[in-house]
This record gives sequence, structure tokens and C-alpha cells, in this order.
Amino acid sequence: MSVSIKTEHEIELMRESCHLLEKVHNGLIPYIKPGISTKELDRIGEEMIRSMGCVPNFLNYGGFPGSFCMSLNDEVVHGIPSEEKILQEGDLLKVDAGLIYKGYHSDAARTYAVGEVSPEAQALILATQKCFFEGIKMARAGNFLNDICKAIGACAAKYRLGIVRDLVGHGIGTHLHEDPEIPNFPMKKRGIRLQPGMTLAIEPMMNLGRGDVCWLDDEWTVVTDDGSLSAHYENTILITEGDPEILTLTTDWKKEFWEDPIKV
Ligand code: MG
Repeated sequence: MSVSIKTEHEIELMRESCHLLEKVHNGLIPYIKPGISTKELDRIGEEMIRSMGCVPNFLNYGGFPGSFCMSLNDEVVHGIPSEEKILQEGDLLKVDAGLIYKGYHSDAARTYAVGEVSPEAQALILATQKCFFEGIKMARAGNFLNDICKAIGACAAKYRLGIVRDLVGHGIGTHLHEDPEIPNFPMKKRGIRLQPGMTLAIEPMMNLGRGDVCWLDDEWTVVTDDGSLSAHYENTILITEGDPEILTLTTDWKKEFWEDPIKV
């Protein structure tokens, strides 16, 4: 599959899909408290998506049994929402979500501290976010894909994070996962040249320990091999003629994360 370049009309649909997803993420925040199950969060989130006239794109994707991926602590990604997983003070919860609006997919993930977490856990959340914002400084027309990968990898190295190498970011559009694959570490090849109209899901997954991961017997949940904590931060972005547009984040992020960089 080649990398799709979206038309103006398609970009509008992507933008709307992503803006709705941002609302879903923000709508879930008040519920992320000790005592709630990840299944209940999934149910609340799915209801939000459906009330917008959209469809959760993760549900039944390859047989995935939830609308959201809800991953706790050493779970990296693809955690299955469960009645038995009850949030506790000190947990790290990763919420990965996506929806389809008029045939166009959006995808974004956040990591939340449930109540008070350790300083190391807090630093992991911030450093993983920072990897994303360093990466997208290179997400400019004319640059190569590997420029993004190198920047993310360099930021992870700076904070001595374990980079998850078995999972990568991806193009997105009329399909949830399109070309290209976007590793969070330098590739051997420079990759495609970035062009305006490309929409990409960039998603650093970083561990406090080593980057190695393994899959649980449920066939979905990916956990750190050494049991260390993991964080995930993802947005769908648009390559433009200038700075990238973060489609799933409509806050003044340039001021917040570029002009005044995250202090880890
Ligand atoms: Mg993704």
C-alpha cells in the first residue's frame, strides 16, 4: 500500500474525526478515578462515540473485544477492558482510542496517573509526551520519515527510556492502519519523504526499564518483559506546508510544548 495524500475535503473529514476523538478523551478524564473498572470506562467512552454518530474503530478490529484499549502499569498497549481491572491510587492508565467519522479514522492515546503516582512514573509520562513533541518537530514536508524516528529515539535515549520496538506508529485515513510504519527509533533507511496531506499516527511507547515486551495469553495485552512501567502518548497529525497540525489536540500546544518545553 502506498502512503495516501488526503485532499482538502478528506482533510476536513479527518480533522472532524480527530476533533471528536479529542472530545471523547477529554470526556473520559473525570471518570478516571480509583474504584472504576476499565470495562466501565470503555462503556462510557463507547456511549460518547456512538452519541456523536460515530463508530469505535478498535471494536472487533482483528477480533479485539473492546472499544478502547485500557492498559495498566506494566501493560504497554492493547489491554482488554475488564470488570476485574479496577483503578487504584498510584496506577498508570493508558487509554488508546479511535473512531470512524464518515469513513475517516482517528487514533490517539493518553497516559493518566490515577491519583498520586511515584516521581519516576510521573517523569515517564512527561518524557514519553516529550518524545512525541520532539518527534513532530521533524514532521515537515521535505523531511524524511526517519527524521521523526531519529528525533523520538534521541529523546528517549536522553531520558534513558526503554523504547518499545515491536510496535510502531502508522499512517491513517480511510483505514486505521495505513502505510508507512513509524518506528520510535532510527530506521536503517531514511523512509518516505513527507508531503503535505499525509496523516500520521505518531505514538511513542516507552518503558522505565528495558524496551522488550511480550504478549499475554489473551493474545492482545502487550506487557513489558521486565515488569517495568510503560507509558504511551499518541496523536494523529497532518503534514502541512509549515508546522504539523495535531488533529487530535486543539489546545495551544505549540506554546505549551515547543516554546516552553516539558520539564521532566
Ligand atoms: Mg495508533
